[in-house]
Amino acid sequence: MSKRTILPGATIGILGGGQLGRMTAIEAKQMGYRVLCLDPTPDSPCGQVCDGQIVAPLDDLEGALELARQSDVLVYEFENVDKKVVQALEQTYHLPQGSRVLGITQDRVQEKAEIVKAGFPVVPYRVLSRFDELEPALKELGYPAVLKTARGGYDGKGQLVIHSVDDLDAAESIMPQTNAWVLEKFVQLEAEISVIVARSQSGQLSSFPVGENKHRNNVLHTTVVPARIEPSVCNAAKAIAEGIASAFSVVGMLAVEFFVTPEGLMVNELAPRPHNSGHYTFGACYTSQFEQFVRAVCDLPLGPTDLLYPVVMVNILGESIPQLFESIGEISRDIKLHLYGKKGNPQPRRKMGHLLVKTQRPDEVISWVDGVLYQE
Ligand code: ADP
Ligand code: MG
Repeated sequence: MSKRTILPGATIGILGGGQLGRMTAIEAKQMGYRVLCLDPTPDSPCGQVCDGQIVAPLDDLEGALELARQSDVLVYEFENVDKKVVQALEQTYHLPQGSRVLGITQDRVQEKAEIVKAGFPVVPYRVLSRFDELEPALKELGYPAVLKTARGGYDGKGQLVIHSVDDLDAAESIMPQTNAWVLEKFVQLEAEISVIVARSQSGQLSSFPVGENKHRNNVLHTTVVPARIEPSVCNAAKAIAEGIASAFSVVGMLAVEFFVTPEGLMVNELAPRPHNSGHYTFGACYTSQFEQFVRAVCDLPLGPTDLLYPVVMVNILGESIPQLFESIGEISRDIKLHLYGKKGNPQPRRKMGHLLVKTQRPDEVISWVDGVLYQE
């Protein structure tokens, strides 16, 4: 990969038109870049704030080449872009994130193997290809365990918790869908935390304050910062995240999700891009993860990541949109509202936006927001 500084005025082409691209584009525009994106949905969340959008599927090489011809630097905003397209683009065009880290993070089997190879802790696991390998693996890991597809899973999709032999039938029915599975020991979670780290082409590293994450039905619900976790654990998590980013030669962003367990910190999974648990930075940090992403891929010096105020980020999913609009007067009081401009009916579990709440009392705020937005 050629190292190259991309100065404001140049054009950033984003593969993907979702909310991560949108917030990246907003920050890039503020810095004076032109921004284009590629997405199959016309007027996508990112397209709405860009200088232009190419409407084409993400695995369409022609569409991607059109984006590349009009851009000075290319980035991907989520990891389910087509690796073959990214490989083709990086031959000729400037795509500093590269296809290698993308390939690793698209596949849980590779991801875990590489993390272990780099010397960092993961949850005890086994790789399986067929149902008849499940019982021997369960004997070794014990119940409960969680079965995850190696590829394409997100927000808890493609996962099955196996509590006892009673769940084996369910596993037998899903396992023929693919031949690449990971079985993980179901660990006791004291907390879940994440670290977003940026690494520039020059190798400069910078991580954001640790976020403490809570999930609801397997979808990220809230991030509290500062995390209410021992400082030594936070420092260890940052050191691991930076260690992985260096070992993998990441350029751009790496989000590292961790389990805090009685046996210590374990890496859960990685994402090679800005991350939902880093949305709090867009408002509550001196530099947001989106600006940092732009700086990293354009090889500008990375910005300071100091937290400006204690904060809770609350995701707004499709099912909470009616309540949000009903109570918007009350909600807008001390709160920053971000909506991603997604069209159509707000489907349950679909990420529509988020709130940032400045607070010294995160639990009180979360119960209040839950009462307003997510009353059952
Ligand atoms: P996704 O790609 O859907 O985010 P994750 O592997 O992060 O998949 O799993 C989603 C959530 O499920 C985690 O954030 C955690 O709350 C829970 N979970 C996943 N694996 C385990 C495990 N091995 N032990 C305990 N909880 C787990
Ligand atoms: Mg996850």
